[in-house]
Amino acid sequence: MSATPNSEALRDRYRIERDKRIRPDGNDQYIQPIGRFSHYLDDVWTEVESRPPLTDEVTFAFIGGGFAGLVVSSSVGEVTDDVRIIEKGGDFGGTWYWNRYPGAMCDTTSFVYMPLLEETGHMPSEKYAHGPEILEHSRRIGRHFGLYDSAVFSTEVTALDWDDEAKRWVITTNRGDAMRARFVAIGAGPLHRPKLPGIEGIELYAGHSFHTSRWDYHYTGGDPAGAPMTNLADKRVGIIGTGATAVQCIPHLARSCGELYVFQRTPSSIDVRNNAPTDPDWFATLDEGWQQEWLENFTTLQTGGFVDEDLTMDGWTDLSQRIRDKAIENGDFTPEGLVRAYHDSDDEKMTELRARVEQVVDDPATAEALKAWYRQLCKRPCFHDEYLQAFNQPNVTLVDTDGRGVERIDETGVWANGEHHQLDLIIYASGFEVGTDYARRCGFETTGRDGRTLSEHWDRGMVSLHGIHMHGFPNLFMVGPNQGANLISNVPHNFVERARTIATVVGRALEAGADEVEVTAEAEAAWVKRLEDGGRTFGNDPDCTPGYYNNEGHLASAEDRRNFLGFPDGPMAYFAYIDQWRSTGRFEGLDFR
Ligand code: NDP
Repeated sequence: MSATPNSEALRDRYRIERDKRIRPDGNDQYIQPIGRFSHYLDDVWTEVESRPPLTDEVTFAFIGGGFAGLVVSSSVGEVTDDVRIIEKGGDFGGTWYWNRYPGAMCDTTSFVYMPLLEETGHMPSEKYAHGPEILEHSRRIGRHFGLYDSAVFSTEVTALDWDDEAKRWVITTNRGDAMRARFVAIGAGPLHRPKLPGIEGIELYAGHSFHTSRWDYHYTGGDPAGAPMTNLADKRVGIIGTGATAVQCIPHLARSCGELYVFQRTPSSIDVRNNAPTDPDWFATLDEGWQQEWLENFTTLQTGGFVDEDLTMDGWTDLSQRIRDKAIENGDFTPEGLVRAYHDSDDEKMTELRARVEQVVDDPATAEALKAWYRQLCKRPCFHDEYLQAFNQPNVTLVDTDGRGVERIDETGVWANGEHHQLDLIIYASGFEVGTDYARRCGFETTGRDGRTLSEHWDRGMVSLHGIHMHGFPNLFMVGPNQGANLISNVPHNFVERARTIATVVGRALEAGADEVEVTAEAEAAWVKRLEDGGRTFGNDPDCTPGYYNNEGHLASAEDRRNFLGFPDGPMAYFAYIDQWRSTGRFEGLDFR
């Protein structure tokens, strides 16, 4: 291992690199794919079929057909068989429906990332499964739990309104529907609205372009399984962005493109991946209930806890065990001691990763530009065994902009560092909206009792009980990590637990014949206070290099920080708490009427 540099010197370097990248416009540097850019959102996977508008009624409707919708609906299916998923894509899969770029794969081991493996009898083929397998697994869940029968696809919700007289939600869509539902849950995904970089002249470009979440295989050739993109053999291709998505698709582009230009503003940190096929003999030895055990094992280790064995041996568990072991080494478990342990272990890790770049990348200047100068958790940590290697190919050029980003785009290509690069194709690997208003990201407004909108209810930040129930919004459930476990390293684990809670609450309401179930204002306020007092929040470190993890480097207001609050004692404590809350049968804080 290379020597860890003096931590003060590192700190200075991190600060300099960060300051280069802070922009006064923060989140506003990005543009929405609307108006003249709306074609970037077109569904390239499914032809929309016409159908008559729906005005019928279901017991339980779920908005969003990704893992959240699939997992929750499969659980709710145990208390009512009248469940409908409404999805804007042409099939189930959510992020895996849209993101079919070559090389897409999960970043947390498949055995905990892919939900309902035991229920559906699926063995992931690899430790880190590729996109097509995960998309197919989504379909498998849909088939297994009979969710296709009632699902409506290619349907975007435009408004959700509570009819207080009828005690029903009215779901309006872009297909002219006005469906009604007794209960509604929303799981629209934290990363579901693509964003484009607001680069001067972006609208002028006359060549071909697309966002990574709408990969155009008609243009490139190839397929999501990674077949060579033969149409690119004589093309000059530019990709803007070097986040987790770009890291996965660049090795494929490097193999196919005549010339590939990678426009980099900030390098990602790239640790080893070590993917491997699953041994079916080993898989057959797993006992019933193994997946829940693996989920708990992963989450315990990932959040600093102790278990005898690391079952997943994942990059994420390694990362947190290093911090924990450093605290043991330092013998200091005070809050300050834990911060120091985090800093010490991170300095070691990042030094190791920068050394890895030097070992892998032949050209010293390119290697230097690919080194990440920030703490590993400032941005999504990446793991890949072919990304850095791609820069050794003669057809691949890294255009590092030293934190400034692409200058402008014109009819024929991209300007960076004062130089023009003529391109046939521009691929935007520019990510998804995270820091913008909820209704904008979600794509529709929710209006509860007395005409009060969710945007109004959350105008000072998210407020809820357990991240699920909102006062004034009866029979409505939110599904995500926020204000609950807030487990970011394995988002589906949050859904598994939310599914159990929502199914139990809906089951109780149906059993009791209650028209409405709603959190009291007091219980909602008390929950938010409990989380605020605990102060456990995700990201928002102003010392970090800017990105969506920290509101683009701008200190978030107390209100904005509410969105990212988690249970004070961490995810495992939340799961234990909510399990207990459910099983007492008292449903404290909820009013069944
Ligand atoms: P990101 O938001 O992580 O990356 C966007 C990229 O665009 C950044 O590199 C950003 O640079 C760059 N960029 C923006 N504007 C400009 C500009 N003007 N000039 C040059 N570069 C620019 O998006 P991703 O789609 O990569 O990832 C989003 C998230 O999706 C991940 O963080 C992860 O949570 C998830 N994901 C998960 C995967 C998995 O689990 N398998 C795989 C892929 C994604 P800068 O860094 O300087 O802002």
